[in-house]
Parts: sequence; C-alpha cells; structure tokens
Amino acid sequence: MLRVGLTGGIGSGKSTVARLLAENGAVVIDADKLAREVLEPGSEGLAEVVEAFGEDVLNADGTLDRAALAAKAFATEEARRTLNGITHPRIGALTGQRMAEAPEDAIVVHDIPLLVERDMAAVYHLVVVVYADSRTRLERLVGSRGMDRSDAEKRIAAQATDEQRRAVADVWLDNSGEVPDVTALWDRLVRFEKNVRTRSYASGSPLVVPYDEQWPAQARRLARRISLAAGGRHVEHIGSTSVPGLAAKDVLDLQLAVEDMETADDLREALAQAGFPYVGPYVDTPRGEGDWSKRVHAGADPGRRVNLHLRVEGAANWRWAVDFRDWLRHDAQAREEYANVKLELSRRFADDADGFAYGEAKEPWMAAAVERVQAYRDGQES
Ligand code: ADP
Repeated sequence: MLRVGLTGGIGSGKSTVARLLAENGAVVIDADKLAREVLEPGSEGLAEVVEAFGEDVLNADGTLDRAALAAKAFATEEARRTLNGITHPRIGALTGQRMAEAPEDAIVVHDIPLLVERDMAAVYHLVVVVYADSRTRLERLVGSRGMDRSDAEKRIAAQATDEQRRAVADVWLDNSGEVPDVTALWDRLVRFEKNVRTRSYASGSPLVVPYDEQWPAQARRLARRISLAAGGRHVEHIGSTSVPGLAAKDVLDLQLAVEDMETADDLREALAQAGFPYVGPYVDTPRGEGDWSKRVHAGADPGRRVNLHLRVEGAANWRWAVDFRDWLRHDAQAREEYANVKLELSRRFADDADGFAYGEAKEPWMAAAVERVQAYRDGQES
C-alpha cells in the first residue's frame, strides 16, 4: 500500500484533485468526512461532546449544531483543546481502520486539510500539496461555494502559510488556473506503490547535473520520514548533493546512524514499509583504520532517487561521510576539483549502468583527498 498525503489551503482544489485521483483508482480517505462521522447521532463522540459542552450544541432532531459547537469550542484555547481531545483520537483511529481495510496494492490518498498544522508529513510515502494563491482561493470560496467573504478570509488566515506547505511538498500542484493534469503524478504513484509492495528500489543510471537548490529541502523531508520509521534515530544528508554549489548525480545520499549492525538489520522491514527497501550489506572503501561496513537501502520512489546508508554512529565510515562533506562545504577549491573530476568521468562512463567503473575511476582523487580531509578535521579540532 502507498500512503499519499494530499493537502492545501481551503479552496485550493484539494477535493478536485482527490476526485481526479479517485477516477484513476486511488482509495480516497476524506479527513473532513471522518471528522463528521465521529460526531454522528448515536456516536460515543457526540455523547462526550454533549457532556463537555451541554445539550444546547444539539439541534432539535438530535444532530450536532455545528455553529453552536463552534461558538463554544473556539471561544477559549481550553475549550478548543477539550473538543480536539474528543475528536482527534477518534478520527485517527477511524483513519487507521480505513487504511487497514484498503487492498494490499491500494494507492491511498488521505485528503487532509490540516496535514501541516498537525505535523503529519512524515507518515506518508509522498505529500502532494495543491496550491492556489489566496486571492483565487477567496474568489472560489465566495463565488462557487457561496461562503461569506469575511468568514472565508478568516479561515484562510487561520491556516498554515504557503511557505509551510512548500516545506512539506514532495509534489506541488499549481491549481491557480486550469485544473492540473495528474497523469504524470498517477504514473509515478503506480510505480512507487509497486516498488514498495515488491520491495524494489528505483533504478537507472542518473547523470551528473548542476547543483539543485531543492536538494537540501528534499533531503530534509526524506530524513524525517526515515527517522520516524527508524524509531527517531538520527538521519543526515551526506554526499555530493549535500554540498551547496557542487554538481552531482541526481541521487540524494542520506546516512542513518545506528548503534550496531544488528540494529540495522532489525530496522530492515520498517524502512522497507516506509519506502526504502533493502539493497544489501556493503563495505565502504576504507579511508583508514576501523570498521567500514554498512547496510544500504534505496528509495522506492521513481520520482526521487535516494541511497540510504546505515552506518554505526561514530564508526570510521560514519565519520568519513560527515568529514568529507564538511571539507567540501568549507573548501571552494576542493569543490571545484571534485566537480571537474566527476563531470569528466561521468562523460567517459556515460554507458556505465551500475556506476561501478565510474566509482573506480574516481578512486585516485578520493585516495588523495584522505590527507586533506584529515588536515581539515585536525584544524577543526584544534
Ligand atoms: P478544497 O477541497 O481545497 O477546499 P475544492 O476542490 O472544493 O477545494 O475547490 C474549491 C472550489 O473551487 C470548488 O467549487 C471547485 O469546483 C472550484 N475549483 C477547483 N479547482 C478549480 C480551478 N482550477 N478552476 C476553477 N475552479 C476550481
């Protein structure tokens, strides 16, 4: 199963995009709908709400009077917390139940307006944000939905900002004009789901490309996902894509710190389920004394290549990854040399499918870098 979080500001077009994905075959879970379900007549949730806020939050027919409840629940911070304490756990449980009921090969799209506000991004394999500028959203809410203008303005102002949404967006769909075409997105989701289910990682031979300003933010999103799947362990961005200004193959390298290799093996299944299947046990090319073994996982998303290295925290290879990165970040000349070496070799080995010959050819420069990295490290320590 693939879990996709779909969010956006009110009036951005989330429901419209959810409908398009459902037409392609997605199982859509609508958070707003579940929020209403947990307060249906006869529900435990509604009984608790009446107990907390009084009988006058009910209509004559026993259904919830939403306006009356909103007036009370949004009056004070404490009242709001009381209401959330009743509804949130129930909505969460119901969401989990719906996910569990979905077929094994389902692409589940969770349409959740408050994904950012609830800090939920890391629980999904992919987060899709639907965007429309706030003026367009206001016009849509007032125009086609008939909402009161000042009410619509208030609701927009109370939600997360566009920057906050951008920070969690793996996919950004601009719905300011025409409704976006979701064909390419759907194709990516289908292949991503299959990879997760079959424990396959995205493959192919990526080219060396100029530095991409988006890499750090993409790495942060993936790191949070990986860390969540790995019980909160530390993940950091390493390798060429972590060095601003450096040309690199468009594959993010991330390093997950583990206590020992047994722990790495214990995390195998959780990482696979989160979208980072196991590749195998490897030994890094030693750059000195110590243990250079690791476990490698790789990303299942065909739209975002990532290699995940599980290394023992503090081990020689863990240290090297951090020091080599920091040295390149710090030393402009080293960066330029390294970029030239990589560009040269990537042209020479353009047909090298697994990158092995390319890696071999890079060795002399890498070996010569060991002393320079050591000198940099000594300088940092003194
Ligand atoms: P959300 O679920 O994000 O609140 P909706 O999908 O309900 O937003 O869209 C809000 C309103 O705007 C709806 O009436 C919808 O039909 C309309 N709408 C959505 N996308 C577009 C678009 N690209 N152009 C014009 N109207 C749109």
